[in-house]
Amino acid sequence: MASPNGQAVTPLTLRAPSVIDLGKRRPLWLDQAFGDDFPGNAPLSGNHKADVVIVGGGYVGLWTALELKRLQPSLDVALVERKTCGSGASGRNAGFAMPWWLKILTLEEVLGREEALKLCIASEDAVAQVISFCETHCPEAQPRKDGWMWAASTPAHVGRWEATVRKLEELGKQRFTLLGAKEIQERIGTNTHLSGVYDPNAATLHPGYLVRGLRRRAIELGVRVYENSPMLEIRDANPAVVVTKNGTISAPQVVLANNAWSANHPAVKGRIVVIAADLLATSPIPQRLAQLGWTNGTGVINARQRIQVYRTTPDGRIYFGRGGGGLAFGGWFGDRYDSSPKHSRETAEAFQKIFPMLADVKISHNWTAPIDMTPTGLPFFGRFGKYKNVSYGVGWSGYGVALSHIGGRILSSMALELKNEWSECGLVDRPAEKFPPEPFRYLGGKLVQAAVTAKEKSDDSQKKPTKFVSLLSRLAPKH
Ligand SMILES: Cc1cc2nc3c(=O)[nH]c(=O)nc-3n(C[C@H](O)[C@H](O)[C@H](O)COP(=O)(O)OP(=O)(O)OC[C@H]3O[C@@H](n4cnc5c(N)ncnc54)[C@H](O)[C@@H]3O)c2cc1C
Repeated sequence: MASPNGQAVTPLTLRAPSVIDLGKRRPLWLDQAFGDDFPGNAPLSGNHKADVVIVGGGYVGLWTALELKRLQPSLDVALVERKTCGSGASGRNAGFAMPWWLKILTLEEVLGREEALKLCIASEDAVAQVISFCETHCPEAQPRKDGWMWAASTPAHVGRWEATVRKLEELGKQRFTLLGAKEIQERIGTNTHLSGVYDPNAATLHPGYLVRGLRRRAIELGVRVYENSPMLEIRDANPAVVVTKNGTISAPQVVLANNAWSANHPAVKGRIVVIAADLLATSPIPQRLAQLGWTNGTGVINARQRIQVYRTTPDGRIYFGRGGGGLAFGGWFGDRYDSSPKHSRETAEAFQKIFPMLADVKISHNWTAPIDMTPTGLPFFGRFGKYKNVSYGVGWSGYGVALSHIGGRILSSMALELKNEWSECGLVDRPAEKFPPEPFRYLGGKLVQAAVTAKEKSDDSQKKPTKFVSLLSRLAPKH
């Protein structure tokens, strides 16, 4: 077809809205590790006692249980879980077991240089501990220590890692090497990235098999795991009493490890916002991945502010996740953050932009998960109650696969009232950074989310965002 002036024109067609089959609405990891209708252990019923009660059966609660049993094998430890172990973030995450060096700037700013270095070094040990646990207790989690990459697919995001890389250089702790577009393509088979940095000291693993392994090991060591038992309240007493619908359990020490669900606990209120992340997994495509040359376990974090994360799985799929979907008013989200078809569809579109050559690949699973974000992206620990016998640790801000091992060390030390490097580390009793109160938190948060979306749209189309949008987008919590 030609225009009146003789130039070729593209025929105008009405584009149907894209229909992407999003597959099953369930986390791939839980589907594979526990099946569709894993009933879990029987709920707490009647009145019981224990030496320590842990609330929450994610990585943090389970590592705390294992650490308690390691330190005092005869300790009577009970764990109370709302649904089944791993039903929170621990069974739904990206499975990057990575050290904390990417947060060195914030760690130094908030905790000082010495503490920052100590924690980063501890985080490398945590990666090693998690891998070693998998090798001994759940080889099916298949950790692959092929490192992680921080990469940009838009010119405006190139170099977002530079200040971190410079800081590590200054500290004599450089972990990153620079990668160009070609090197990234050689590793992950797509040419949509411009540059990045690579840290070899990280692994990807199967989050569901890890949580299943931790649960199994805890039970083997004699931890009483009550599932289908949401805690309704904690009675502030000595011993403290954890109350569920059909039973109570009292203990001199309680550990709160219920992550995003603790947002309205008085010790946590205002210190975290709960943000949804949207995730998907493709059906197995090992041959396509082999053609692309992406057969390693390297994980990628895209340097976008609205974070994107991708990796391969042991059975030859791609996992692709995107942060910053929903924002929970007042921290209340119930089961709303189990799935979100609208955001999952957007996530599928984002996947197709990064991997255009896989646009025809079937998506097998989609799901959503809550992330507990603090203003700085660092977790905090403390003790609560008249008797200071309720310890808590929350605010992992999307980095808890390996770091939860540190969480377990801190919380077990606190519960045993030990004075050691963990109970006295800088994350414990640190001054509260707070978000504004509701409704300003929610309204402001939505505004900031809209600004981040607008900024990224401008970045993608290589346009300059307005000053207002730029300024506002900088107020987003750090991830
Ligand atoms: C989408 C996503 C991707 C992520 N990717 C990575 C990654 O690649 N690398 C990384 O390092 N980190 C990652 N993270 C972060 C990491 O998954 C978390 O920091 C970690 O799993 C937190 O463990 P947890 O035990 O504190 O919380 P959870 O796993 O959420 O466990 C809390 C548990 O408490 C239970 N609970 C809640 N309320 C109650 C109650 N009233 N009574 C009893 N039980 C209760 C919940 O059911 C849940 O099982 C990611 C997080 C998300 C959401």
